[in-house]
Amino acid sequence: MGAVTLAIGQTVPWNASWSAEERFEIRPCKYAGNRLAVWQPFKPGEGKPIFAKPHNVRQRKSIAEMRCTVCGEKTVMGRRWWWPRGQRQGQWWMTTEAPVHSACADLAIMLCPELRKCGHPPMHFPETHTVLFGLVGGEQFERDFGISTGGRDVVGSLKLAWRVGRHTGLPWFLEDAL
Ligand SMILES: [Zn+2]
Repeated sequence: MGAVTLAIGQTVPWNASWSAEERFEIRPCKYAGNRLAVWQPFKPGEGKPIFAKPHNVRQRKSIAEMRCTVCGEKTVMGRRWWWPRGQRQGQWWMTTEAPVHSACADLAIMLCPELRKCGHPPMHFPETHTVLFGLVGGEQFERDFGISTGGRDVVGSLKLAWRVGRHTGLPWFLEDAL
C-alpha cells in the first residue's frame, strides 16, 4: 500500500478493529440489551488495523444506534445508505453490515479496491428492519477468541434482518435492486 496515513473514519473505517484490541472477554453489553456479549478493549489507532474484522462492541453500537460504519457518526433516515450484503437464513435475510453516509461510502469506494470489485453500490437503507442477536459459541469460536461461553447465550454481532418473500427468497427491497 505504500505510505498511506491511517486515519480513522477515512482510510480506516471506524468499525474496524486494531491489533491492540485483539483480546476478548464476555461482559454484559448495553447494545445487546444488556445480554452477555463478546467484549474487546477500546484502543482504536493502536497497533495495526484489521480491516476484515469489525470490533465487536463498535459493530453492535453501529447497528443499535444506526451509526455509519466508516465514520461512526449517527445516520438519519432519508440520508442513510447501506451496502446490500447478507445471506438468507431460514425465513430471514440477514446482514451484519451497518449503514453508511453517502459521502463516507464514496470515500470508502475510492480507497478500497475490494469494495469496487464487489459490485453492488450502496443503496438507500430500507425503511423497516428487525435487529437480531447473533449468538456465538462452539469449539471453533472458543479456539479463535480464547474465551469460553460456558454454555451461556453470548451475543457476537448484531444483525439486521428482513423477512424474505415467498417467491424470490429475497427481502422486498432487494427484489429489484440486485
Ligand atoms: Zn459516515
